[in-house]
Amino acid sequence: KRRIAMMTSGGDSQGMNGATRAVVRMAIDRGCEVYCIKEGYEGLVKGGDQIQKFEWPDVRGWLSANGTLIGTARCMAFYERPGRLTAAKNMVLNGIDALIICGGDGSLTGADKFRSEWPSLLEELVATKQLTAEQTEPFKHLNIVGLVGSIDNDMSGTDATIGCFSALTRICELVDCIESTALSHSRAFVVEVMGRHCGWLALMAGVACGADFVFIPEKPRAGNWREEMCKIHRKVGKRQTIVIVAEGAHDQEGNKISPDMIKDLLADKNGLALDTRITTLGHVQRGGKACAFDRYLATLQGVEAVNAVLDATPETPTPFIAITENKITRKPLVQAVLDTKEVTKAIESRDFDRAMSLRDTE
Ligand code: ATP
Repeated sequence: KRRIAMMTSGGDSQGMNGATRAVVRMAIDRGCEVYCIKEGYEGLVKGGDQIQKFEWPDVRGWLSANGTLIGTARCMAFYERPGRLTAAKNMVLNGIDALIICGGDGSLTGADKFRSEWPSLLEELVATKQLTAEQTEPFKHLNIVGLVGSIDNDMSGTDATIGCFSALTRICELVDCIESTALSHSRAFVVEVMGRHCGWLALMAGVACGADFVFIPEKPRAGNWREEMCKIHRKVGKRQTIVIVAEGAHDQEGNKISPDMIKDLLADKNGLALDTRITTLGHVQRGGKACAFDRYLATLQGVEAVNAVLDATPETPTPFIAITENKITRKPLVQAVLDTKEVTKAIESRDFDRAMSLRDTE
């Protein structure tokens, strides 16, 4: 029987439990044994009871459960070869030769590195007498499949990551709440949303909430945007103002657009003098139940991840599971990670046309 392991790694996102549930049940349905690794790579390096066999009922009710019930962590040890060596040993000791990882681009980069080092890790385990050649013999090839779990929707090559639509839904609900008080008191609110180098959450929330102004990392405001922003608020009868700022937003010179700075502009006594408040949404964006789309996405992609493991040959490049124009697809993981890093590089070097064109071609 094939033994497949599932883990969640990096920052949590809604829908990770749905992915775990789908992997567990599909693996069992396809005649495999399935294991869950607790606390991401931390659990793989620790081994022991951090690696647990799962059965069909163990994931009952997980589609609507919040967070990730198998835990997630950032693991320093896995960045270094000795940590990965111990992880490889634990895989072999548990008879596992396939790993499905739901995480962000960091987790998936680590996974691909693990796979490319795998033969040399096994050799070292034998050479250092931590395992025998007989023990490592059946584990010549490691299969890795990535599922992208992230609220940021920052991975190239997929239209949506598991969690991004739940986070967007949460932001919309919260902005609706903020709007009530903004309207009652004739106030302006500057709302900061997550997304790191990616403006997807801010931009989509801006559209979905009808915000007055949005700041995103990929396309800093050009020209006299300060005046432009303040003009909007002079419209007759306007009682509420919502400005959404992505946490990674900056101006064309690379200076951070901070909510404080926007507040000062809107509240300026010599200008609009709006009664302005700041709301930083923070971790509530990752919280709560997954929306219907994320449950569906996690389920279909979890199923496809198991199929990808079972179809893999030693020559198959490490895939990740994407959704492209509503179709669940397998794509090469390394290319997607490189493309994702390319966008970040373009933003950091202030080549915004390139950043936008890379996002557009995704
Ligand atoms: P998020 O999008 O929420 O940040 P992420 O998966 O990108 O999720 P990271 O903190 O970058 O989060 O990575 C999670 C873990 O993956 C790290 O703590 C580390 O254990 C492993 N990892 C990340 N990058 C590498 C790498 N280059 N080599 C080895 N392991 C890595």
